[in-house]
Amino acid sequence: MTDAGHDERMLIDGRLVPALDGGTFENRDPATEEVIGVAPDGGAADMDAAIRAARRAFDETAWAASPAFRVRCLRQLQEALVEHAERLRPVVVAETGTPVTLTHGAQLDLPVEGLGWVADLAERYPWTTDLGIAAPYGIRSRRHLRREPVGVVGAITPWNFPMQINLAKVGPALAAGNTVVLKPAPDTPWTATMLGRLAAEETDLPAGVLNVVTSSGPAAGRQLTEDERVDMISFTGSTAVGREVMRAGAGNLKKVFLELGGKSALLALDDADMRAVAGNAAFQITTHAGQGCAILTRLVLPRERYDEGLGLLVETLRGWPYGDPSDPATLMGPLISERQRRRVLDHVERAVAGGARVALGGGVPAHLPKGHYVEPTVLADVDPDSPAAQEEIFGPVIVVIPHDGDDDAVRIANNSRYGLSGMVISASGERARAVADRVRTGTISVNGGLFYSPDVPFGGYRQSGVGRESGVAGFEEYLEIKAVATAARGDDE
Ligand code: NAD
Repeated sequence: MTDAGHDERMLIDGRLVPALDGGTFENRDPATEEVIGVAPDGGAADMDAAIRAARRAFDETAWAASPAFRVRCLRQLQEALVEHAERLRPVVVAETGTPVTLTHGAQLDLPVEGLGWVADLAERYPWTTDLGIAAPYGIRSRRHLRREPVGVVGAITPWNFPMQINLAKVGPALAAGNTVVLKPAPDTPWTATMLGRLAAEETDLPAGVLNVVTSSGPAAGRQLTEDERVDMISFTGSTAVGREVMRAGAGNLKKVFLELGGKSALLALDDADMRAVAGNAAFQITTHAGQGCAILTRLVLPRERYDEGLGLLVETLRGWPYGDPSDPATLMGPLISERQRRRVLDHVERAVAGGARVALGGGVPAHLPKGHYVEPTVLADVDPDSPAAQEEIFGPVIVVIPHDGDDDAVRIANNSRYGLSGMVISASGERARAVADRVRTGTISVNGGLFYSPDVPFGGYRQSGVGRESGVAGFEEYLEIKAVATAARGDDE
């Protein structure tokens, strides 16, 4: 590792390399807007070499048939990440703009810990199941199920929680016996190149088993989705691109696994502790400046307590510490780019033009002249059918909507093309759970419970995705099931 803790090379076929044509693109710190270095601008020939290497490593080596060796390699990777964590931490902060506090959780330490969970799972996983003997059509047969890797996996990831999402794909895909080409988002190339470097230098992973291709534009990702040597795409990103990925994979009917956008609701029932509601809502919307797919971006309050809830939320967010992400006291940093900030501010302007009221924020903070910051923003009186309540804003913007009882709250929560997450708060756990059961989402919190953990499957209903990441279900996304029937002798049992 360099002292800087980052690497400006890709990993292709076991070698740390620049782009074949020598091209690079800039990596910028979203808090300072300064260029912190470069990453290789991988082109078609680089991606082709990575896919070829992954194909060869899958078809011609013993990787797919060596579960114990795979577990050892994953443990080596995890140990390397732990050993270098203090060098990686400032790099993650510098390229994502995440508050350093979050690197002690989902932005670094927890996903590294989660890799250990995947290795443990692979170690004890029942690769073969005996279904016993049956005699269909009178033919006595012993039936086994074998779990086998899918093949070459293309992993395409976004910029918001890059270490977490890169590891959530690479870990289980490798543990299951696949080979991988990882294509990270252009805004956060180094979390991936660092992973590549640690894999190359501190593990026994054979050449070609893991490849990392960075690129400044969408062409490399598109190439990965279209290439017929790739058996599966594991994609996390926007719903719009997810749709393109699914279409592109149709050529060779790739297995397509999608983690997409969200517009999750926090439902406060009429007996809720409004301070807890405001605290949860404030924490959610400022987590990584609202740049999270499962963040609760719609606050649905009982109409008769609407002013109370809105007032408490505004009061809580008014004192929220935000700014320099490297300061451990900071709870919210900048957005990833100027383009993203413009998108968020446009959403706010359109919401106001459509009749919403800005109860807090809505603009660029005057005290932070550098960096892509947006004030924590509360939009009140938002029409539940308007774009602000239906579209993913991906910034620190929460919309507040009144409801007329539990049935109406459920109806509003489900009035979305997304179905990723949610929360219900009530003085009665039983009542909150009954409401939670009716919300159509892949995860949901009851009274502030936390589902984030390596053993919990995460994913969405409807247009929030197809499939699950993490947990046993997430691991099994990377496996095929083969049924083997062996003719049984008369005396076999
Ligand atoms: P994005 O969809 O723009 O890009 C995601 C990745 O896809 C990037 O690596 C990008 O380079 C690549 N890409 C772009 N066009 C492509 C194409 N045509 N073919 C193949 N690859 C292509 O998303 P983003 O802006 O990087 O990330 C934000 C989005 O990710 C949000 O919508 C957010 O909700 C979503 N997200 C979802 C989850 C989840 O688990 N559900 C988690 C994090 C982020």
